[in-house]
Amino acid sequence: MYYTSTSAEGKGSFLMGKKIAFIGLGHMGSPMAANLVKAGHRVSGFDLAPEALEEARAQGIEVAESAAAAAAGADVVITMLPAGRHVLGAYQGENGLLAVAGPGTLFLDCSTIAVEDARAAHGLAAAAGHRALDAPVSGGVGGAANGTLTFMAGGGAEDFAEAGPVLAAMGGRIVHCGGPGAGQAAKVCNNMILGVSMIAVSEAFVLGEKLGLTNEALFDVASAASGQCWALTTNCPVPGPVPGSPANRGYQPGFAGVLMAKDLGLAVQAIESTGAQARLGSLAEEIYRHFAEGDGSGQDFSGIINDIRANSSVEALA
Ligand code: NAD
Repeated sequence: MYYTSTSAEGKGSFLMGKKIAFIGLGHMGSPMAANLVKAGHRVSGFDLAPEALEEARAQGIEVAESAAAAAAGADVVITMLPAGRHVLGAYQGENGLLAVAGPGTLFLDCSTIAVEDARAAHGLAAAAGHRALDAPVSGGVGGAANGTLTFMAGGGAEDFAEAGPVLAAMGGRIVHCGGPGAGQAAKVCNNMILGVSMIAVSEAFVLGEKLGLTNEALFDVASAASGQCWALTTNCPVPGPVPGSPANRGYQPGFAGVLMAKDLGLAVQAIESTGAQARLGSLAEEIYRHFAEGDGSGQDFSGIINDIRANSSVEALA
């Protein structure tokens, strides 16, 4: 189910101009919070990093002196933090977000975290008398700045309807994926497709090069044939065919290889806990983990093609 501004269940259920606490004002959080301000919300933000606070202030976000101070009296508390331990850590404790927020506050966690952690966060929020959605995003820093993120939400239908106008101020597509954790489940599955498909596209280009095929020829065929996918036609790993892809700017992210490695790590955690067979997903995690720990640490995830090329034998087919 999608949220649209005309969704009957969302209409009039949540007036604009509410007080929103925004915890985690990094690469994603800062522009997301700025879009909430532009939409007329009063945003009180907090981050542990002083430089993030400075950037947020410049964007018109009120800066609180602590996460607890931001959350006190808020209607909605949004977290955009690196990993599950940060979210669960921020939620809990005497001065934690759940303890200081007023009864029935709506908690939206937009971080990418493990499905199990998201379910634990839902449980803690419910036990403290609050409402919660997991609402991870795709679309990267560009989508955060332009307000075109895709939100994948997990939680109750009423809470989703109420969160809709807030999420719509930061995103272009808002999807209700199911109950607690379903947003993170959709995110992890989507990114497993992306990681595997980027490796497949990169291997095909390297094999094509070895076979004497130009990158342009392979692109012209595969982009209009059954090999077509986002990794090929939008984030093409070779320079040339798609002028906007990171390959044309020295593999500057884009979507960093370290984030792909992180997301595939969450996929593997889910694969292991569910027993699903996902051999390619598991292998993709291994490949991206090595990439992120090595040359690829500062690169876009499409830079994996350089590892694949470097690990291929020098012999080309005449
Ligand atoms: P980031 O590292 O730039 O920002 C995270 C911020 O959280 C940092 O500024 C850090 O100081 C702050 N922080 C950590 N613990 C805190 C705490 N307890 N209280 C307050 N602030 C705290 O990361 P990001 O790129 O903004 O990503 C945030 C989340 O979004 C991650 O879960 C990531 O996987 C996900 N994500 C990122 C992208 C992307 O392209 N960057 C895309 C989709 C999803």
